Amino acid sequence: MNIYVPGMRDRRTAAADETHAPSAGGGPRPIYGRGTSARRMSESRRAFDVRRASFNRAPTDINTVILHQITAFHPAQLPGEATDGDIHSDHSLDHVIAHFVVRATGEIIYTHDVQFILNSVSGRHGVDIEFEGGYGHQATPQGTRLSRQAILAGQRLLRWLDAYLPNLRYIHPHGQIQGRGRGKHDSCPGPDVWVNVGQWAVANLGLISDRPHHSYPNHGISPAQSNPNYDQHVS
Ligand SMILES: [Zn+2]
Repeated sequence: MNIYVPGMRDRRTAAADETHAPSAGGGPRPIYGRGTSARRMSESRRAFDVRRASFNRAPTDINTVILHQITAFHPAQLPGEATDGDIHSDHSLDHVIAHFVVRATGEIIYTHDVQFILNSVSGRHGVDIEFEGGYGHQATPQGTRLSRQAILAGQRLLRWLDAYLPNLRYIHPHGQIQGRGRGKHDSCPGPDVWVNVGQWAVANLGLISDRPHHSYPNHGISPAQSNPNYDQHVS
């Protein structure tokens, strides 16, 4: 699905030959969801080009946005815009398992088409947005904060997704709906992302956060994640 958002780089083609994301422990993780045509193609010996894989869902199947933080910065600049249409172009953000990445600089990247199901918590009905960087969840903010540019970019991306996706109704922090364990309950994403972008979308776009669509578990939103001390009052 073609989506235009001001300030966004469309890296779907540049990321089209990526099959796996590096991960800290346990080896690389497949980018595409189990059972999808893209995943099968990535497990075959053929050269991988996701543009030849069939989509898994219609835009009307999407009802949820899930916010994450990458926990790391990817300091290298993206190669020039001319490379966005070059399947051989490569940047570490092309491998992130998400549909969109919001960089600390405020740049938005569309890496994986929203009509693909990814190997992540978003499943059949969700879109994943990853925020570049690691942001803490102490009682009072300390260390690196989510930048004003990234907050504004996240809000802008959500405004446009709300316009493009007719059935979009829900927004959640990853920790609220994670399937196994509770390891992300406080930490993905940090309150800087949830308070300044997620709660903004609840207040300004009317998205629902307290009760997820029935296809997701609901662990509630952690008080550490919704800590009002992190409100940067940016909009
Ligand atoms: Zn996450």
